[in-house]
Amino acid sequence: MGVRSVASADVVMVGAGSAGCVLAARLSEDPERTVLLLEAGPDHREVDLPEELRTLSRPVAWPYNWGDRVASTGGRELNYARGRGVGGSSATNGAVALRPEPEDFDAWPRELGWDRMLAYLNRVENDLDFGAEAYHGDAGPIPIVRHPEADWTSLQRGFVDGCVAAGLEFCADHSRPGSTGVGAIPMNRRGSGRVSNAIAYLEAARDRANVTIWATAMSSAARPCHRAGLDSSPRPPADPGRPAQPGRDAGDRDQRGTATADRRRQHRADRRASGRPGTHRLAVRRRT
Ligand SMILES: Cc1cc2nc3c(=O)[nH]c(=O)nc-3n(C[C@H](O)[C@H](O)[C@H](O)COP(=O)(O)OP(=O)(O)OC[C@H]3O[C@@H](n4cnc5c(N)ncnc54)[C@H](O)[C@@H]3O)c2cc1C
Repeated sequence: MGVRSVASADVVMVGAGSAGCVLAARLSEDPERTVLLLEAGPDHREVDLPEELRTLSRPVAWPYNWGDRVASTGGRELNYARGRGVGGSSATNGAVALRPEPEDFDAWPRELGWDRMLAYLNRVENDLDFGAEAYHGDAGPIPIVRHPEADWTSLQRGFVDGCVAAGLEFCADHSRPGSTGVGAIPMNRRGSGRVSNAIAYLEAARDRANVTIWATAMSSAARPCHRAGLDSSPRPPADPGRPAQPGRDAGDRDQRGTATADRRRQHRADRRASGRPGTHRLAVRRRT
């Protein structure tokens, strides 16, 4: 039942990113519907993930990052990171799982308000710290955890204590509606491993007979649109059979300076973390 041509698929999705992985998994629950997922970047099963995608806080370069640049004020050019490959940006991002606030939905149509959306937010997650609460889920595909206080570094401990001494609330759960203050942020990870949508949604669905994934397949019908004000010529495709070669792949050349700086910063951060993976995250959120 696998799809042999674009024309023979019931649903064709361009981009196997965060949204594409979820849509492919959900739409293919109907065995009668054939789903074709086209992705410009590489594809890896969970067991074959390269280290830069498996572990959080690693710099991610071509072919897993588009290497886009955007024009900013004062003539500056800034990095505009976007994931490339099955999982999209969910496979390269920071795995911070901060929820929207109820009032964020006020501008949405009434039928898509907080009361309705809460059920969907809960359905996504398996909150391993607060799963029993009304505003959390404990049966979704995405594990949510916060770094326990016992694991914080002395710097982090001091930061939180200082914020509390300065009058901020301590916040044990930034996902609690109306929460404010300082505390560990919720993250979608297992240990130091990022749980992307490719892992959470597509991994279990991709062996279905009605799902076909064509990776390293750049669709000319849709193009990355994050090159505002800059060269928009398509990046030469990397050889899908060969791992990225720093300094040789075109995308890497484009962003070599920034990638080197990122790596240096990462090394310094790793050293400071005394051998622990650089994934401890705290947040201060202040409601206005
Ligand atoms: C470095 C980084 C850190 C981030 N940190 C966080 C965080 O901690 N928490 C958080 O909530 N969000 C974070 N985000 C944002 C979040 O990851 C994105 O908003 C989200 O993943 C976007 O999902 P998407 O489906 O719209 O696009 P993407 O996940 O980017 O998917 C788009 C996919 O389409 C593919 N594609 C594009 N053009 C074509 C084409 N022409 N043909 C074929 N395929 C194509 C791309 O390769 C990509 O795989 C981060 C993003 C980045 C890049």
